[in-house]
Amino acid sequence: MKKFALFLIAFLVISGQSTVSAAAEGKQLKAAIIIDDFGGGTGGVRDFLEGEIPITAAVMPFTENSKKHAKWAHKNGFEVMVHLPMQPKRGKRSWLGPKPITVDLTPQEVKRRVEEAIESVPYAVGLNNHMGSLAVENEKIVRAIVEVAKERKMYIIDSGTSSKSKFPVIANELGVPLLKRDVFLDDISSSTHVRKQMERLAKVTEIKGKGIAIGHVGVTGKVCSVGVFQAMDEFKKRNIKIVPVSQLFATKLMEQYIKP
Ligand SMILES: [Zn+2]
Repeated sequence: MKKFALFLIAFLVISGQSTVSAAAEGKQLKAAIIIDDFGGGTGGVRDFLEGEIPITAAVMPFTENSKKHAKWAHKNGFEVMVHLPMQPKRGKRSWLGPKPITVDLTPQEVKRRVEEAIESVPYAVGLNNHMGSLAVENEKIVRAIVEVAKERKMYIIDSGTSSKSKFPVIANELGVPLLKRDVFLDDISSSTHVRKQMERLAKVTEIKGKGIAIGHVGVTGKVCSVGVFQAMDEFKKRNIKIVPVSQLFATKLMEQYIKP
């Protein structure tokens, strides 16, 4: 028995972290589902905000429904984030809504807009970017945003619209908790595709111990909600808990960040 134990320890040491998945180590697996574009389109809004899955609601600032959706989400126990519109490389200006973060702004102007965006979305505890493939690559712009996040004790989720995003390195430099999106759920608008992407989220979570998916309300909202709800039995079977995204950060890190 002793021999076997030693052998097992040796095996675990040699095999290392790369081959022992989080699932095999018996950790509680946690995944977050951030739903973007609240405040904007209405498709799927009620399904998510009156539903049983603890999604995280990312709300666009400055829209007619920003405050309404943020309050509704909070009232029903959902975590709220600011979904900050940022300039993309391609796309229509109208997709950004009012007062987006564009690369022609000075850092002072960026900071003021981020402050206003936070005021416009009550109960927000974190922020992520809406679009932004151009602006997230701009160090000066990103630094201004991260500085406001730090003052307000908010975490950041990099939506992953550019592989050259400056968010991870600057957040790390300034000590702001940041995580990156792993999977987009509804880049193709069909509930079958959303279910497939939920399967990818489950796999990522089993390997890393945690995973983050982003879906949307609005045009794809209905199929997104259908796909997500249909996947829940499978998540239960695989013992993956859906949690508000803030719960994916190490508790100690968050405590130190929020109450230094
Ligand atoms: Zn968005």
